Amino acid sequence: MVDYHLHTPLCRHALGSLEEYLAAAEQKGLKEIGIADHFPLELLGFAPEAQVTMEAEELPGYVESVLRLSSRSGPTGVKLGIEADYIPGTEERLERELSRYPWDYVIGSVHFMDGWDFSHPFFVQEYEKRDLVAVYDRYFQLVREACRTGLFDTIGHPDVIKKFGYRPEVDLEPYWVEIASVLKETGTCFELNTSGLDTPAEEFYPGRPFLEILCRAGVGVTLGSDAHEPESVGRHFDRALALLRQVGFKELAVFSRRQRLSLPL
Ligand SMILES: [Zn+2]
Ligand SMILES: [Zn+2]
Repeated sequence: MVDYHLHTPLCRHALGSLEEYLAAAEQKGLKEIGIADHFPLELLGFAPEAQVTMEAEELPGYVESVLRLSSRSGPTGVKLGIEADYIPGTEERLERELSRYPWDYVIGSVHFMDGWDFSHPFFVQEYEKRDLVAVYDRYFQLVREACRTGLFDTIGHPDVIKKFGYRPEVDLEPYWVEIASVLKETGTCFELNTSGLDTPAEEFYPGRPFLEILCRAGVGVTLGSDAHEPESVGRHFDRALALLRQVGFKELAVFSRRQRLSLPL
């Protein structure tokens, strides 16, 4: 199996060396891992309240160290990924900055809503002050825009807005259907991110009904643990794979130099 969403200490909120992540993956018998740390927001001209990404000058070293790890021979292959934020208005800068490196894949994630880092525990009180319907509406709008940029191979944790357990009392299905159709139309995959199970949401991102809609729409799926420490590599994968098969997925999407390939499930 493959884990396409691992972080590194460069983002300031993860622990463990690259070698330790790889060793954890080898121990779990993973065929491949993808390191996908947070792309420096500084390069997008965006300065968040809490630093959550590497510095701009650390990016070349990040790429170099992942490539060095990938050139080693061993039971587990290593891919060069990155998790980039979608922030409206920064598309051109992001495209230019991304073009400098030989990524295997780029995860596009929405973590910021008009400046609010809504998936960060520091800023969770903001949910109490806002209308949850408007929050969810804006979130899914940003996800659709992210797909339409064409800059991303897969969309990370596509319903992470539920992370802290704040859910509006409306039917979310129309949003899921719309996201599925935009993903399909733009040829973008989505990520089944297993970290959600360890948050107050207590579900994978996306949850099962959303996953079923994505499967019916024929959207490709990548798999990631979003590990911010080596022990989390491959977390809950048995459950995730069983769920994917139950829902009807037949393959996982994997990437090499941004070319999509598939791994039978
Ligand atoms: Zn992170
Ligand atoms: Zn993320």
